[in-house]
Amino acid sequence: MTNHRIGIAFCYHESHTFSPVKTDIRAFEQECLVEGDDILSTFRGTRTEVGGFIDVLEQNGAAVVPLVCAAAIPSGTVTASAYETIEERMLAAIGRAQPLDGILLALHGAMVVEGLADPEGRLLSRIRAIVGADLPIATTLDLHANVTRQMVEQTPMQFGFKTYPHVDMYEQGVRAASLLLHSLAAKQVYHASFIKLPMMPPSINMLTQEGPMHDLVELARAAEEREGIVNVSVFGGFPYSDIPDVGASILVIAADKPAGDRVARFLADKMWDQRERFLLSLPGIQEAVDEALRWEGDRPIVLADVSDNPLSGGTGDTTGLLSELLSRRVRNALFGALYDPETLDACRRAGVGAELTLRLGGKHSPEFGAPVEVPAKVIRLSDGRFRNQGPMNTGLLVDTNGAAHIRVEGIDLLITGRALSANDPELFRHIGIEPTEKRILALKVKNHFRAAFEPLVGRIINVDAPGLASNKLRNFLYRHIPRPIWPIDDWKGDLPWRKGGHTA
Ligand SMILES: [Zn+2]
Repeated sequence: MTNHRIGIAFCYHESHTFSPVKTDIRAFEQECLVEGDDILSTFRGTRTEVGGFIDVLEQNGAAVVPLVCAAAIPSGTVTASAYETIEERMLAAIGRAQPLDGILLALHGAMVVEGLADPEGRLLSRIRAIVGADLPIATTLDLHANVTRQMVEQTPMQFGFKTYPHVDMYEQGVRAASLLLHSLAAKQVYHASFIKLPMMPPSINMLTQEGPMHDLVELARAAEEREGIVNVSVFGGFPYSDIPDVGASILVIAADKPAGDRVARFLADKMWDQRERFLLSLPGIQEAVDEALRWEGDRPIVLADVSDNPLSGGTGDTTGLLSELLSRRVRNALFGALYDPETLDACRRAGVGAELTLRLGGKHSPEFGAPVEVPAKVIRLSDGRFRNQGPMNTGLLVDTNGAAHIRVEGIDLLITGRALSANDPELFRHIGIEPTEKRILALKVKNHFRAAFEPLVGRIINVDAPGLASNKLRNFLYRHIPRPIWPIDDWKGDLPWRKGGHTA
């Protein structure tokens, strides 16, 4: 048992710098912006990083000191004023909470703020400035974090997710909290071995059940069995952040620094050598719909509109796939969720049972497809609040800011007041739509939804439609990433870690 006072906090955003939708303070307020005891009521008992922090601290008799939790759904660059507000509240809460014995901080690692390319690095260094160089700080990071040297310099104790779909958030929260308490009890010092690779793979083939990321995570877990190695994280990075620190990296936490360096170089070599495996060629819209129409399985087929996945920064309202489904007169299909507050308002004004003409989608990124005008019937309305039942963020309350179930010919559509990925079937079930009764599920998703949907469906096709989260990275006009970087450029010459001296 311990009587240590440990601060817990959460600052989470994945910033798609090409998105036209800036992330302001309202976006955090809509998703999560809580302080003090509200953090405990929001996260206690959830399978999240903060849920993991709370469980470990309470089981060990530590005093949980809730600070600030701020998260917004992935979208465009965070506004300077939103970030300043959150940072000020975080630093003020830490100041008031002193003396603390340690801090647990759940980060994403791919946040970008207007005029600030490495906000997590700055946040950690400003926390350091308050608590001093010796206070243990442990973090959790998303597998898609663009980890920076500035971040790693603030603390070696950083734990990346090892799953995609991310179903080990809780486990990594537990590991971070456990190591933090252990470092206090044993007065153990840890070291970071960090390598940034000159590559930014698209995330489409970063799944951890199979493929290159699966193999790398297996090697990471095996390396954790070695003497002196505590934890090994493999970060795929987030390629839609146009920043100098974009891309993949390896971070090893070690009690034995030379052993950590060796593991980091080994994993960096393996990741680099397998880079071509991260690339996939996907069918276009017509080809994918052809395939879906030929589907004869007992369970539904999914057309995953991966280029408009809101959790990759997609606007959630592109219409390319929807237009094709309508023009092909597809029957018994479900499309969603389409982010369209105007349509939602129109449905609410018209009421359940009303028939009306709607202009669907195409409002936030019309360059990827114009709104689609259709006759529709309002089937049901809801407040859009439900709890996740699937394996990801289980138990967490989700609020879509209202929802409408509408029917357009043979297609049922879910319209929401916020952009969000269809990662949990409860998104549809809460309003009375049963996805397993449909033949075709056209979903605004990428990979994460597999955790809950794979057991329900017969086949999944990733569709190459136009959208902000397209896996064709060469189509984006990068200005700030380091060059050369794979797969935009070929890489020639020595790799930094093979020259030695490049691990932190
Ligand atoms: Zn992620």
